[in-house]
Amino acid sequence: MTEYEPIIRSAIFIITLAIIMLWEHHAPARALILNLKKRLAVNLGLGFCNMILLRLLVPILALETAIHAQQNTIGLLNQTKLPHALSILITILALDLLIYAQHALLHKIPALWRIHAAHHTDPDIDASSALRFHPIEILLSMGIKITAVYALGAAAYGVMIFEILLSSMAIFNHANASIKKPYEKYIRAILVTPDMHRTHHSIRQGERDTNFGFILSLWDRIFRTYTDKPQKTLTLGLPPCKPADTTRLLWILQLPFLTRLLFAKR
Ligand SMILES: [Zn+2]
Ligand SMILES: [Zn+2]
Repeated sequence: MTEYEPIIRSAIFIITLAIIMLWEHHAPARALILNLKKRLAVNLGLGFCNMILLRLLVPILALETAIHAQQNTIGLLNQTKLPHALSILITILALDLLIYAQHALLHKIPALWRIHAAHHTDPDIDASSALRFHPIEILLSMGIKITAVYALGAAAYGVMIFEILLSSMAIFNHANASIKKPYEKYIRAILVTPDMHRTHHSIRQGERDTNFGFILSLWDRIFRTYTDKPQKTLTLGLPPCKPADTTRLLWILQLPFLTRLLFAKR
């Protein structure tokens, strides 16, 4: 299972990215402010660095953790005799809720916001924004996920499906494209759509601190962080950042350690 998983996951990731980029090219939701090539270079560059860092610094990733927990009867679900399909479903739902809660905390706790802000500095968003995360956030997130997989005794197939869904949905909901109106609200009833996540990238804090979900829109509705704003009124990015800085890889990497006014007041 683990030997083919990286190939399957990478193939689905590349195919999803290509399809969403074609969609953006044919029907962009907004005109980009920055140069597309510069943005792609920095976002894809960050994604590549993060992938290498994870492989080098984290000895065991989420799927291997689930298999190890299963073999050693560690964690809640491994102590029960639930049908396998139900364990897979619980794993997917629990991990999606975890990612929702983690994202909300990344916004609420000032030290974590410094790390997560790299994702919000871009005045544009598109499919490549799904890779725009500071390496510290990627490592922290994997540490939290591994701990949760152990504690839950997560089903290995559930973890595999979740990882594929999460990366595909991150590409989809960062798309610079919109689902046509009558259908958008039906899809949004279940999944996080591009219009829903775009609101989360607003320059206004009141809008930015909403729509934390990545896969299901359910969690934002349950925990009252859901909002539906008219797309025309949205301006994206983080106000004190100079647009030219946001396409500099070194600036993004330094961001959590900058002591300028950027993070003094949110
Ligand atoms: Zn965020
Ligand atoms: Zn985002």
